[in-house]
Amino acid sequence: MYDGDIASTLVTEQAIREKTAELAAQIAADHSAERSGSGRDSDLLLVGVLKGAVMFMTDLARALPVPVQLEFMAVTSYGSGTSSSGVVRILKDLDRDIAGRDVLIVEDIIDSGLTLSWLLKNLESRQPASLSVCTLLRKPDAVTVDVPVKYVGFDIPNEFVVGYGLDYAERYRDLPFIGTLDPSVYA
Ligand code: 5GP
Ligand code: MG
Ligand code: MG
Repeated sequence: MYDGDIASTLVTEQAIREKTAELAAQIAADHSAERSGSGRDSDLLLVGVLKGAVMFMTDLARALPVPVQLEFMAVTSYGSGTSSSGVVRILKDLDRDIAGRDVLIVEDIIDSGLTLSWLLKNLESRQPASLSVCTLLRKPDAVTVDVPVKYVGFDIPNEFVVGYGLDYAERYRDLPFIGTLDPSVYA
């Protein structure tokens, strides 16, 4: 599949599976601890950001040993093609109210952090009981911006990656691993 397009594998299918199980155990433990004593008794609500987070979101949901509910948002950030500007528009909003809910935003990758920063402000204004973030991948620039990310799968180098939900021109989302593209693909 995609013969010659992938230059290298950055995160293998097995590494993704193991890390997802690890994150799921931690998220479930934190959620149970937060809920006990708070009097809250509602399922954790996963909010996935389309389309990149879909693969991670569905695997994470199945790895979590607690009941979860799934919601999706689609946003677009105005910007110059590859870099995001932080000005975000909602293409598809949540189907329900999240007031009083324990919400976990599920992201594929955080680069500049601008999209996430906007999303956090937007969802915070809807008054969830709690709001945290889980991302599969994080790039170096994201560490420098002030966006609280509680759960991180892998810190990766500053390279453009595809696979496991991440695309280049809508392709490669269906790869089961994370890889880098061969320069011939851009040419
Ligand atoms: P940020 O606002 O953090 O700069 O942008 C995050 C979004 O940019 C991600 O959700 C993703 O859609 C896109 N993005 C950032 N880095 C990459 C990458 O290496 N590969 C792909 N396919 N998309 C990326
Ligand atoms: Mg994303
Ligand atoms: Mg994309």
